[in-house]
Amino acid sequence: MRLFTCLLLLAFAPAFAQTNGTAYDGPIIDVHLHVGPAAPGAPNPATGEPTTANTDAEREAMTLERMRRHGIVLGLVSGPDAAMASMRRAGGDAIWAGAFLDDGHTPLPPPEVLREAFERGELRVMGEIAAQYRGLDPSDAWFEPYLALAEEFDVPIGIHTGLAPPGTAYGCCPDFRIDLGNPLRLEPMLKRHPELRVWLAHAGWPFLQETKALLYMYPQVYADVSVINWIIPRAEFHAYLQALVQAGLADRLMFGSDQMMWPEAITLAVEGVDSAPFLTPEDKRAIFYDNAARFLRVDRSPPGAGQSRSGAPSGKYER
Ligand SMILES: [Zn+2]
Repeated sequence: MRLFTCLLLLAFAPAFAQTNGTAYDGPIIDVHLHVGPAAPGAPNPATGEPTTANTDAEREAMTLERMRRHGIVLGLVSGPDAAMASMRRAGGDAIWAGAFLDDGHTPLPPPEVLREAFERGELRVMGEIAAQYRGLDPSDAWFEPYLALAEEFDVPIGIHTGLAPPGTAYGCCPDFRIDLGNPLRLEPMLKRHPELRVWLAHAGWPFLQETKALLYMYPQVYADVSVINWIIPRAEFHAYLQALVQAGLADRLMFGSDQMMWPEAITLAVEGVDSAPFLTPEDKRAIFYDNAARFLRVDRSPPGAGQSRSGAPSGKYER
């Protein structure tokens, strides 16, 4: 029996290896992109190479080019208003703009201003909300008017969780605290607002147990794997991703790049997920596209499952 099993495994081993090693070739939704301001020559934190985009215009064009190259049919983008408006014009249907609170420099506009932008359809997402950089707790009262707005317009909310660049508290953001990125901080808010569509940006890394607990107990919550799929050591990202998949959460994880000022990061982020040897083709399809389509209620028919980007006409996504 044991010999038979071994022979069976040997017979199928190449097929298994091939299945899990197959590069993903389907459509992608990137739920985490940023625009502006340009930082000429800024070294990519993963490669040390200077950015290939030295102006806002270059970054916009190169980001859209990378999106096309990787079959990213929809990108959720946040950043300063002018850069985002330009990105929406250039990217058309492939870009959804989000209200932005980030990096200690860009405050959220007052709720009344955001209301008008949501009414006009200029904004479709609440996020990225990086309250942690400002020392704010996402379950505190300051956030309530924004949550009410998100409920009213039924838009998804992306909240920064986990960490930030090393030394952040000594640089831009003295109020930054690690503890404010703990996903458990969201629990009081989730209990008050069970209808909200919330996702954890950066999947709470490195708060693995807390992330598992929150996703398990609040089935409406999703998580994106942005930034950790290219900035931290790949073995650490894969171990974290595998732990979440093993916990039965593969249908709640979404692809994101967190492209900031390095368009090439989109490629690194795609490779970070695609190279995970434990992901099945079904897992990859779920993480790269299906989970985000379900979470965002994308009501347009994507290229069908099993069709390749290269083989299938992508219709309205062709740019
Ligand atoms: Zn973030």
